[in-house]
Amino acid sequence: MTMDDRQLGMDRAISRRDFINGVAAGTGALAAGMPGLAMAATPTMVAQNDASPYPPTRTGLRGSHAGAFEAAHALRDGTLKLADAVDSGEVYDLVIVGGGLSGLAAAHFFHKRVSQGSNSGAKVLILDNHDDFGGHAKRNEFTVNGRKLLCNGGTLNIESPARYDQWSRTLLDDLGVDLARYERDNTVNAGLYKSLGMGHGMVFDAETFGGKDVVLPMGGGWRGGKIEPDTLAKAPLTPKARADLARLFAEPQPDYLPGLDQSAKKDWLARHSYQQFLIEKVGVDPQVYWLFQDIGKASFCVGGDAVPALFGWVQGYPGFSGMALGDVPADLFADLPGGQHGRQREGDKSIHFPDGNATLARLLVSKLVPEATAGRTQEDMGTAMIDYSALDRPGTPTRIRLSSVVLNVAHRGDAASAGEVAVHYAKDGKLVEVRGKAVIMACWNMMIPYLMPELPQPQKEALAYGVKGPMVYTSVAVTNWRPFVKLGAANFHCPTMYHQEVGLTEAVSLGDLKHPQTPDEPVVLHLVKYMNKPGLPRRDQHRVGRAELLEISFPEFERETRRQLQRMLGGAGFDAARDIAAITMNRWPHGYSYTYNSIYDPVEWVYSECPERPCVIGRQPFGLVSIANSDAAASPHTDAAIKEAHRAVQEVIERRTYPFVPRRTG
Ligand SMILES: Cc1cc2nc3c(=O)[nH]c(=O)nc-3n(C[C@H](O)[C@H](O)[C@H](O)COP(=O)(O)OP(=O)(O)OC[C@H]3O[C@@H](n4cnc5c(N)ncnc54)[C@H](O)[C@@H]3O)c2cc1C
Repeated sequence: MTMDDRQLGMDRAISRRDFINGVAAGTGALAAGMPGLAMAATPTMVAQNDASPYPPTRTGLRGSHAGAFEAAHALRDGTLKLADAVDSGEVYDLVIVGGGLSGLAAAHFFHKRVSQGSNSGAKVLILDNHDDFGGHAKRNEFTVNGRKLLCNGGTLNIESPARYDQWSRTLLDDLGVDLARYERDNTVNAGLYKSLGMGHGMVFDAETFGGKDVVLPMGGGWRGGKIEPDTLAKAPLTPKARADLARLFAEPQPDYLPGLDQSAKKDWLARHSYQQFLIEKVGVDPQVYWLFQDIGKASFCVGGDAVPALFGWVQGYPGFSGMALGDVPADLFADLPGGQHGRQREGDKSIHFPDGNATLARLLVSKLVPEATAGRTQEDMGTAMIDYSALDRPGTPTRIRLSSVVLNVAHRGDAASAGEVAVHYAKDGKLVEVRGKAVIMACWNMMIPYLMPELPQPQKEALAYGVKGPMVYTSVAVTNWRPFVKLGAANFHCPTMYHQEVGLTEAVSLGDLKHPQTPDEPVVLHLVKYMNKPGLPRRDQHRVGRAELLEISFPEFERETRRQLQRMLGGAGFDAARDIAAITMNRWPHGYSYTYNSIYDPVEWVYSECPERPCVIGRQPFGLVSIANSDAAASPHTDAAIKEAHRAVQEVIERRTYPFVPRRTG
């Protein structure tokens, strides 16, 4: 171990690095029981290396953790044989593949519908490959100096709830979510960081700008990646960059596409990146683009090189005011989740629970399996415990079976007339078969062709089209947050550092879970790392980013995380070895759903609701199987997951109600 490592605290005895040869014991057991699976464990794979019995408190490598995906990769690679499956004899009215918000919402909508009719008593099984429910809506829980702290391991917030469609709002109502009450309860928290003199900040790293890192507080001047030039007075920018920045923000702006009518301008902006617009049309210095390079990353996992300039206009980025582009009507695409076509906009309200939308997942579980938790209200979910052993008990209306990787879904007989669908999954080293009178695939689109070889080829191709965006959400529990107060910023944008976003979790309380009010108390930091390769076409950026993400070992990740925090905060008294209590790397190799992008995809896929979109072709029902999940809407949003769950349940109910209608099978 180097001196540097010791200074960073890498020599601390912590349970999260206790793993054997980088491979979790559970993975070994799984591999042992399944032919071919041993090959799936690569030497670079690192473990979910904290054996805490309660999944939300597990630290180390989470998100898509070891043990959750190897069997699926073995299936993809053709090394898995299904012949040895054990028939459990279990038959359900509905089997749902995927226990994220879409799968949980589908179970809720299904029970709600069938209990209205003559079919109450329906049985639902949810299968999910992770050791926790919620999919991307994952809860990270820590206890530091006796205080319980939460962070979202994935899904951050209820974004633009005012724009949620009818069924997403219905679900929030069914769960008793009261956003107004929540906001009211958090009025003081909303002003907490500001009251301590903290705004936003930016880090100009030494590798990019030479000299030393410049950690710059920018007051309220940095808003979601946008820059107010006067906040950059102390930034290490060249005079040319400063002059260009001032020109970019000056009013009135020139028309950068003279000679084109409004439609032709929009067409150009839709097919060219914001980077091209700034560099080629506005003619700014590359340092100015450096400031804007992360435009769109929070929505698409790629930056300004792969995000259409038209998105910049919709989102209010500078450069467009002199181009007579008109207004974006507020109700455009009102029923389409996702911001790529301009639905979500700056100024829309968003609601962040302390564990993000894991609160919604927990509320759904409390409805579906009431025995699993005493928590009933949104406030309860701050501290409510889940009894994971109650999630999968015989005789209950809903069973949630975790750590179960579905490997095959096939009708028993002809899909046009079969009465059941066989679902094969791997759990605890065994291959098991269950059967469903209906199945909803609430997993990921690109998995479905592997799981359902019987699907028509065009549908398989449509399902495989989107490539999910890879990313990491890192939660770092620290003993205090004095350095942030000293630096005058609650969060920092660091475009060219290991993580691009570093900040305190939003100040919010939920029931008995209270956000720390003074910087001497422990808190969780939320860091974001996007994985991409600027310059490549968007889907290739996601593929390369995912491959690189899967190569990162946890010790390497921990070292880089500690080093970055030390560089940024060390000057304000932070000591990584002393102040860091725990680190959780929520790795999402298959993160955001792919949204269509007018630089690489047909413009009508982005700016119209045309039925030729792969998500529409891919989500068509097949026999007794319907397809939910946010990929089915081509939108990385919670309301997309809910909306598609409702549609899929509608299809199941239609088939149950009118069984004489021919099923779609091709
Ligand atoms: C890091 C991150 C942050 C986000 N932030 C926001 C946000 O702030 N606001 C917002 O609205 N949206 C956000 N999103 C998007 C939002 O989380 C998703 O749109 C939504 O939660 C998706 O739900 P889902 O159920 O469709 O998919 P998922 O949550 O991915 O759930 C699908 C589940 O199926 C499982 N599965 C896949 N294959 C199999 C198999 N073969 N067998 C068994 N199980 C399988 C998966 O592992 C997963 O657990 C975010 C997404 C990510 C990744």
